Amino acid sequence: MEHQPDSIDQEVAQELGIQTTMTWATTRDGALKQLSNFIENHFAEFGPYEDAMAADNWALHHSLLSPYLNNGLLHASEVIAAALAAFEKGGIPIASCEGFVRQIIGWREYVNGMYWHLGEQYPELNDLQANRPLLPLFSDSSKTQMNCMKLVVGDIHNRAWVHHIPRLMVLSNLALITGTNPQEYLNWMREVFIDASDWVMVPNVIGMGVHADGGQMMTKPYAAGGAYISRMSQYCKGCIYDPKKRTGDDACPFTTLYWDFLDRHRERFAGNHRMAQQIFGLNRLSDLPELKERAREVLDGLDQGVI
Ligand SMILES: Cc1cc2nc3c(=O)[nH]c(=O)nc-3n(C[C@H](O)[C@H](O)[C@H](O)COP(=O)(O)OP(=O)(O)OC[C@H]3O[C@@H](n4cnc5c(N)ncnc54)[C@H](O)[C@@H]3O)c2cc1C
Repeated sequence: MEHQPDSIDQEVAQELGIQTTMTWATTRDGALKQLSNFIENHFAEFGPYEDAMAADNWALHHSLLSPYLNNGLLHASEVIAAALAAFEKGGIPIASCEGFVRQIIGWREYVNGMYWHLGEQYPELNDLQANRPLLPLFSDSSKTQMNCMKLVVGDIHNRAWVHHIPRLMVLSNLALITGTNPQEYLNWMREVFIDASDWVMVPNVIGMGVHADGGQMMTKPYAAGGAYISRMSQYCKGCIYDPKKRTGDDACPFTTLYWDFLDRHRERFAGNHRMAQQIFGLNRLSDLPELKERAREVLDGLDQGVI
């Protein structure tokens, strides 16, 4: 749905020298309309499409409620109440209701608790000693040829939002497997997202996204190769890189760097039983020397903004 900017929005946008947006509301009334729109038109489909990434539908069936939940225009309890009331009326599959309620009282509350529990030093952690400067493609989508990164960074530029899977499995995954400095990446995420409240962003990025906390929040890193992105999205169609390939000029950078990441941290993850399958797969690679060579080229290319 679209939200018409009012005179205050126009005035503020003018002061800041930016365009107003119709994507986001700035009032309680607008936030309530967004909630009703979600319940009436998207809630039933939330579950099946929650983790999918579409190239031609930027919001899918996500609620787009995070900015209002974070800035106080909506309270979590009224969002849950609206969801449960709709479910009780009928027509909402249990998977959609369970999935949505879990996001709010499961993830949101959990992340909030973890933020206060983990302490003031938590945002500064860098357990994997990742020191690569932020890649140019994060601030300029023309600095990459990877379809997924181009589309996701382009979407953020347009609306300051993408859903949880591109945040986790595309953006953070790339930061993780390239060894990008967690604090540089965190600062970029803070700047570009509409819902970037510190208490939500910090645990999601430092803990879940780039595993910079040595596993305090998540027991294993969310590292994945191109096969995952290809399975969960439409991004790979038409991309010049092949998600199935790990070596060669057309190998998907995610696939090459996924194995390179595992190899760089092989000793650390060897003792983690949740990583056993990945390390087993790594040990079976017959082309590791070639792959390491390609990984060096890919990292250089990403640093130069040409991959
Ligand atoms: C690396 C990373 C960074 C993130 N940074 C932020 C952030 O700065 N601010 C923010 O609000 N959310 C953040 N999230 C969580 C999630 O991506 C957004 O809350 C969600 O995409 C917002 O869109 P939505 O309202 O349509 O969510 P929906 O998919 O409709 O989910 C409903 C609500 O559940 C809550 N929720 C879902 N997932 C999470 C989660 N992982 N942590 C906390 N709450 C969650 C949100 O309040 C969201 O509005 C981050 C996730 C990741 C993986």
